[in-house]
Amino acid sequence: MSPYLGEPRDLYHGRALCVLKPRTAREVGDILALCNAAGAPVIPQGGNTGLVGGQTPDASGASVVLSLERLNRIRAVDAAADAMTVEAGVTLAQAQDAAQAADRFFPLSLASEGSCTIGGNLATNAGGVHVIAFGSMRDLALGVEVALPDGRLLSTLGALRKDNTGYDLTRLFIGSEGTLGVITAATLKLFPRPRSRAVGFLGLRDPAQALKLLNFVKGRAGPMLNAFEVASRSGLDLVLRHIPGTRDPLAQPHEWYALVELAAFADGEAERAGAEILAAALDAGLAQDATLAQSLDQAAALWKLRESLSEAQKREGGSIKHDIAVPVSEIPRFIDEAGRRLAAAFPPARPVPFGHMGDGNIHYNVSQPVGADKAQFLARWAEINAIVHGVVRELGGSISAEHGIGRLKRDLLHETKDPVALDAMRAIKAALDPNGILNPGVLL
Ligand code: ZN
Repeated sequence: MSPYLGEPRDLYHGRALCVLKPRTAREVGDILALCNAAGAPVIPQGGNTGLVGGQTPDASGASVVLSLERLNRIRAVDAAADAMTVEAGVTLAQAQDAAQAADRFFPLSLASEGSCTIGGNLATNAGGVHVIAFGSMRDLALGVEVALPDGRLLSTLGALRKDNTGYDLTRLFIGSEGTLGVITAATLKLFPRPRSRAVGFLGLRDPAQALKLLNFVKGRAGPMLNAFEVASRSGLDLVLRHIPGTRDPLAQPHEWYALVELAAFADGEAERAGAEILAAALDAGLAQDATLAQSLDQAAALWKLRESLSEAQKREGGSIKHDIAVPVSEIPRFIDEAGRRLAAAFPPARPVPFGHMGDGNIHYNVSQPVGADKAQFLARWAEINAIVHGVVRELGGSISAEHGIGRLKRDLLHETKDPVALDAMRAIKAALDPNGILNPGVLL
């Protein structure tokens, strides 16, 4: 059972009665009905890549881990309706491939796409690098199939684009973190497949310049803008130090970087626009330096710098994580203010901010001081959280932009969410899961 009892950040490790691996949605329903009758807690689990402990059983040993990994079929692809229905255990990469095989594009993209699964992506309302153009998982599903604690299957599956018949149950289950039902399948939206792509990497002075650049690129690229990611030099340094085969694509070091991706449908269109926009941005003084990938390999190498940030930080030692959102226009103020307060309270800590600037979402991770003891540093998790989340609150932000709440942020949620909204969430939970068997201790 061991692989099912821990999680990638090593913050949670639990015990379980057993791990169950059903093969069909009907079996999932039958398991839930049995557990409901027996009062056994059920911990649904997809690819076990979640970052907030929402897929990990507690230490009691009384829970059933319900792995969805064998529900791994592509049920139907309807290219003409731009929709496909897949089961919860299909990996994100398999879903992307199935779309491509039908000459379509499924835009969700994250660092863990080889192992994370569609069910988990839905349960946590995953975001990733293309939210700026396509939205998060909540925007990418047309319907879901969900097993309820009483054993029944609820289905909103289907390729309907319009269905204005009452409560939006699809969106209710997406982001519910396994606390209302177990998602067994979903109908996902597909998009036309881009035929040209341009990836640029720009050296910047500071986050304020990144904000100006973002608005400049948005205004010129319009719907071609597919990603606008930023990272500090502290992050790039860690990647270059720890990830083999990476190199700095620019001649001089810069304090900040942006990775910009454009996609278009005519051959060469994105490349032409990318070259023009980068040159214009340099002319306008909105970047210190820039390079545009000249091949797919170069584009992949630039993306690797961005996608390796978490792994590089892990290899550097302990880090205290934040997944925050503020209005896009407040990102520079957030980064400056969080950095200032952190430096005052705990000078040797090393902020490594990076993330999805275009969505106002920064992973404001703080690496341990050089040579410090990892456990001693991680013991300051709550203290450093309080400093960073204090700035988030002042700027009208969110303590979880795309990772969810899980066990990690449950108490924080209760401190920050509108109490009336929390009451409504509890009422929904009580109606759908009256015995509280689904993922107890997570979210609520
Ligand atoms: Zn992210």
